[in-house]
Amino acid sequence: MQGITIALSKGRIFEETRPLLEAAGIRAAEDPETSRKLIIETNRPDVRIIIVRASDVPTYVQHGGADLGIAGKDVLMEHGGEGLYQPLDLGIARCRLMVAVREGFDYALAVQQGARLRVATKYLQVSREHFAAKGVHVDLIKLYGSMELAPLVGLADAIVDVVSSGNTLKANRLVAVEEIASISARLVVNQASLKLAGTSLRPIMDAFARASAVAT
Ligand code: AMP
Repeated sequence: MQGITIALSKGRIFEETRPLLEAAGIRAAEDPETSRKLIIETNRPDVRIIIVRASDVPTYVQHGGADLGIAGKDVLMEHGGEGLYQPLDLGIARCRLMVAVREGFDYALAVQQGARLRVATKYLQVSREHFAAKGVHVDLIKLYGSMELAPLVGLADAIVDVVSSGNTLKANRLVAVEEIASISARLVVNQASLKLAGTSLRPIMDAFARASAVAT
């Protein structure tokens, strides 16, 4: 029988997915936080988990490297969602995609005056669309992490990043000035897998749906 591959990222997504996997009768044989293995077997011989970067989950599922995956809406917006079936909002890993600036920087005034803003982010596509829709001129600066640093050293006027508790912004004397989207993690499914192996995927998808409906 053709096995099922589930793409997950370490950290919050994996931790918050664990109860959903349990609800589907799936238990990882190893903890990805301590194991160096990228393919993790489960208690079910027909199910394995691959550990990839959060931003790579949609790519693996789109191209059939995995049948199922769990990715934040932020990641899916940036990816574009092409070739992916997105049947379920799991309601986990909630946060907000925000524009933030240094304390004391008058964002509203800068926008009103038509200033050209330097915006540092890893979300280039989403940011381009957001500021274009608002008619704000921006120079986007691609970063891969620690976006909060950019305004502090004069690299950018603003950042676009996900914010959860807001503690990281506060610790770096930044303030959120605009919400771009409310984020939670979604189940993504390879469209061909669903056609070819729907009968084996459906029970997992249904268990995730029931478990996430109970939890949210
Ligand atoms: P916060 O709780 O606001 O201090 O968030 C701390 C850091 O965690 C931020 O820099 C974010 O980049 C990151 N973060 C928060 N929530 C999420 C999430 N749901 N998915 C991915 N990264 C997150």
